[in-house]
Amino acid sequence: MTPYCVTCDERQDLRPVRTRHGAGGPGSTVYACPRHAAAYPPEPDPIEVIESILRARGEPDDEG
Ligand SMILES: [Zn+2]
Repeated sequence: MTPYCVTCDERQDLRPVRTRHGAGGPGSTVYACPRHAAAYPPEPDPIEVIESILRARGEPDDEG
């Protein structure tokens, strides 16, 4: 299977923009060409998400 842009039919210089996790099977990756990849922001880093949640909760710092 040749990957192609999820928005147009471009098949060159693709970049993965999404990973779909299917039930009971391997996830499939969605690709987009450079022009359309901008419409798909990168998936957030799980570590950064956790840190942002902790910051939002106002957890006290060890220092200070
Ligand atoms: Zn495209």
